[in-house]
Amino acid sequence: MKITVVKNILEANDRIAEDNRRLFEESGLLVINLMSSPGAGKTSLLEHTIDALSGRLRIGVIEGDIQSSADAERISRKGIQVVQINTDGACHLDGNMVRHALPALTLSDLDLLIVENVGNLVCPAEFKMGEDHKVMILSVTEGDDKPEKYPLMFRESSILLINKIDLLPYVDCNVDKVKEVSLALNPDLKIFEISCKTGEGLDSWTQWLDEQVRTRSRHT
Ligand code: MG
Ligand code: ZN
Repeated sequence: MKITVVKNILEANDRIAEDNRRLFEESGLLVINLMSSPGAGKTSLLEHTIDALSGRLRIGVIEGDIQSSADAERISRKGIQVVQINTDGACHLDGNMVRHALPALTLSDLDLLIVENVGNLVCPAEFKMGEDHKVMILSVTEGDDKPEKYPLMFRESSILLINKIDLLPYVDCNVDKVKEVSLALNPDLKIFEISCKTGEGLDSWTQWLDEQVRTRSRHT
């Protein structure tokens, strides 16, 4: 019985995600679902990404948190469109939550929408929202065993950002092992090593993002 219930929830979510996707396509918008554990650096990455691409791309952000609007306040200082979703206890965003946040944004004024999911390495990867790409961050402070322990997120993501590489001298994290296990799970995964502190590697990430938006707008 339980399996059937879960399956129905996911099917209902997939239908809503498909509607969102159609809307995003009509608006010529590229949508990224940004996922990680709490504290891996999602909001910091967003701040750097917005700074790097401002003037080139019109970026909007949906912030997902269980409570508080602290992250949306941080992002709103960048002077871009941002909306906060509070999930009231739910540990992930789903298609329906994103759909209800969309009227707060003027989609036709955006090229790129980044949705910062709730900090959690497990179920955010199970719920589609109509995104073009899932992008995940793994901080080196989390250790090198996460791809083995939480394979779904690594399988579902287009991009793995290995963050806080400036801390590598102080933590036990074998980056080669992270890459090897991640690529065994998902041979198409693109991996960038970055530090939001020093700025290292961020150019490759923002360049990838810029290319995705430009390829996308050529097709629509
Ligand atoms: Mg955050
Ligand atoms: Zn959840």
